[in-house]
Amino acid sequence: MPFTAHPAATPTAILSALAQEQLGLIELLKQPRKLIHAGRDFWLGDLHGQPVVLALSRIGKVAAATTTTALIERFGVRRIVFTGVAGGLGAGVRVGDVVVATDFVQHDLDASPLFPRYEVPLYGKTRFDGDAALTALLFKAACGALQDRQEEAQQGLAPHPYPDARVHRGLIASGDRFVCGAHESGALRSALADAGHEVLAVEMEGAAVAQVCLDYGVPFAAVRTISDRADDSAHVDFPSFIDLVASRYAQVIVERFLRLL
Ligand code: SAH
Repeated sequence: MPFTAHPAATPTAILSALAQEQLGLIELLKQPRKLIHAGRDFWLGDLHGQPVVLALSRIGKVAAATTTTALIERFGVRRIVFTGVAGGLGAGVRVGDVVVATDFVQHDLDASPLFPRYEVPLYGKTRFDGDAALTALLFKAACGALQDRQEEAQQGLAPHPYPDARVHRGLIASGDRFVCGAHESGALRSALADAGHEVLAVEMEGAAVAQVCLDYGVPFAAVRTISDRADDSAHVDFPSFIDLVASRYAQVIVERFLRLL
């Protein structure tokens, strides 16, 4: 049985992969209650006037699928939003930019020659869409959040390490691999492009969450801040970004998003 029964109390799930991405959200949670399920912490409470469950997907596709299933089966969430970081793959997708996913592909899925490369067997599809309405709200929230930060920086209120940051909208690739090498990321981008998939960013969870959400008919949207370029310095850029900026990005985007619901 889902945890909540009344529709007005049905929570929005906010998923992150890493504790650093989630920290700022837990700090703002009103009437927080922690529940442990499937070896994971689920934080229930009120965020900016909305009932929410905060959860960590953990890293990788299987862990993300487990958390997503638990959110749906155990907590009966009405929608799921992912906020985290990703490696920039598309041209012009720079560290500090934000990518809102239109759809997802699993870049490490290959059941060829039985099925076309990247196709998820028995689904007859390669790309899994984010929910259009939810994604539009998230895009609006991300644009607003970035603009706020840029204005704060211009007024000298708070420094902005990425004053020219932009919000992109497009395809995100997920796979069980931290992509960390210019050669590897270039090869990944061109292999996907050859199959007709122009990808903006790479991460390790989104496509799994999208697949589970499709199975259950639960609306899903995802936003990723670019922490690195999936290149030879990704292993240096990633941890410093995660500690210094990721949590703040999640806070401001999620606040605007929840207020738009
Ligand atoms: N040891 C690290 C592992 C992080 S893995 C830690 O625990 O701090 C990287 C995480 O950030 C994943 O959740 C993934 O979704 C995202 N990510 C950021 N940059 C990435 C890249 N270049 N390739 C793949 N995933 C990336």
